Amino acid sequence: MSKQKKDKESLATVRAAFRRFIWPRRKMLLIGLLLVFINRLAGLVLPAAPKYLLDTVLPQEDSGLLYALLGVVALAVLVQSITSFSLVRLLSVEAQYMIAELRSEVQKHIINLPVKFFDNTKSGTLVSRIMTDVEGVRNLVGTGFTQLIGGVLTSIGALIILLNISWQLTLLSIVPMILFVFVAIRAFGQIRPIFRERGKIQADVTGRLTEAMGGIRVIKGFHAESSEIGIFRNGVVRLFENIKSSLTATALVTSAGTFLAGITTVGLMAIGGPMIMDDANPLTTGDLISFIFYLAALIFPLVQMSNIGSQLTEAFAGLDRTEEILRTAKETDDPRRTEELGDLKGHFQFEDVRFSYDEGKEVLHGITFDAPAGSVTALVGSSGSGKTTIASLAATFLDPDSGRILVDGQDLREVTLTSFRSRLGVVLQDDFLFEGTIRENILFPRPDATEEQLVEAVKAAYVDEFTNRFEDGLDTLIGERGVKLSGGQRQRIAIARAILADPKVLILDEATSNLDTLSESYIQQSLAELMKGRTTFVIAHRLSTIRKADQILVIDEGLIEERGTHDELIAAEGKYYQLYTYQSRI
Ligand code: ADP
Repeated sequence: MSKQKKDKESLATVRAAFRRFIWPRRKMLLIGLLLVFINRLAGLVLPAAPKYLLDTVLPQEDSGLLYALLGVVALAVLVQSITSFSLVRLLSVEAQYMIAELRSEVQKHIINLPVKFFDNTKSGTLVSRIMTDVEGVRNLVGTGFTQLIGGVLTSIGALIILLNISWQLTLLSIVPMILFVFVAIRAFGQIRPIFRERGKIQADVTGRLTEAMGGIRVIKGFHAESSEIGIFRNGVVRLFENIKSSLTATALVTSAGTFLAGITTVGLMAIGGPMIMDDANPLTTGDLISFIFYLAALIFPLVQMSNIGSQLTEAFAGLDRTEEILRTAKETDDPRRTEELGDLKGHFQFEDVRFSYDEGKEVLHGITFDAPAGSVTALVGSSGSGKTTIASLAATFLDPDSGRILVDGQDLREVTLTSFRSRLGVVLQDDFLFEGTIRENILFPRPDATEEQLVEAVKAAYVDEFTNRFEDGLDTLIGERGVKLSGGQRQRIAIARAILADPKVLILDEATSNLDTLSESYIQQSLAELMKGRTTFVIAHRLSTIRKADQILVIDEGLIEERGTHDELIAAEGKYYQLYTYQSRI
């Protein structure tokens, strides 16, 4: 990307961030600003005290004046502490609230993105987008903001006072300061891309880490621990290198500040000392000491701002990535989806449906078939032939490139997702169960179901057959903190869940895992119960399911090679016949 374009984008992010985060909170930030103002004003009192003490109070030996001075200083300190406390309370709390809000918003957006987005993005990356990137907001509204404004205010105040004390000395100190600002700006120009990169590395590393933990069996099974350790190590080192380079740049700024401040102080004493000793010059000892204090008050916020600079850069880099996600169109945003489905019967017609995941690589080359309402269509064929793709199209997880899918005569492409998906149920291979109780897992698509409906589904899927043996029955915890379930038991829970959801259209991806005969027979019976009266598309592996199907579509390389019922296809002695005779042999 060209630098100009990048700058333009950064500016857009800054603008977007201003509109989204700063502007709606302008009242609160204004109060914050007022507090900062009072705080910094009070902060300017303390450096004036030595001058007054040395030049006025001590020479006059006036204890009344001394007490007055102490009183004023104490008051100023008190005001400073109270205002800085209120500032943190006001802005930091608000910033944390914003983080919570933004996290919810980003998660809501991500969950509404199309399925294909998830195919192309690591889940760890998304977790990092939701949890880490949004934290940058804290620096925009929280302490970063106040420090920035406060720093500017203090610097201006201090500069005015400095000029008042001695314009010559001020001029002398300003030269190194300009130098410092120059160094700081250069350094931050370098840091910004480093921060951008850091977020990316972090997301990559967490992504891989999550995947590795999830796929631990594969890693161990292939004895790939050392290569996985190497990959992670590389990621961590990349992260370290990145942090190291930004640390160097920040440290450079800070030490340049300290160095210049020291040099300046030496210079001040070298020039200020003779000025005090020269009776013709009005500069007093108190003046010089106050000058040094005020100079510190001028420089300190500048150094601090260099920190804020990096905080803000980090914030913007995070928000850049957040904005990028929020700009990705949600599947529900599709302007073509305007039709509400009425009472769904579930008659599906595929008309010359073509589809490709990647441009130019078509995987379905014109699929045409009719699935009457309530019928079972079994998709069979070798792996990679396109069965999952057909099922995903029927589920609206994907949309055809050309051709149409009609449901009850209506183009599925124009139907609102809510009205269709609320009548859809899916039972997939390795159906995922949450950590929680069996009851929660079954109730998940329909949390408001009655106990009766729940029990009915549990019975129909033969879940009670094993939960009856558990002490806590349906309330048994599963997953890491609870019991381990067998593959067959997990499948039955997934089936009970689908029965309870009572969908009109069902997408079923039968698990290929071999179960013992008893489990197998329970699953067959519960599947039969589940498919009853629902238009079902099943990626079938069980002969029992395939036999019962109203039609079998034999898919080969993205085309329907054969179609018919089990008996018809056996009689035809084609591809299905080969497949069937092969399967029954094993
Ligand atoms: P099946 O379910 O019959 O095993 P699929 O429908 O999953 O077959 O896949 C059909 C073809 O599409 C295969 O060649 C596969 O490599 C390809 N494919 C599947 N999913 C994707 C994807 N997300 N991106 C790119 N290609 C894909």
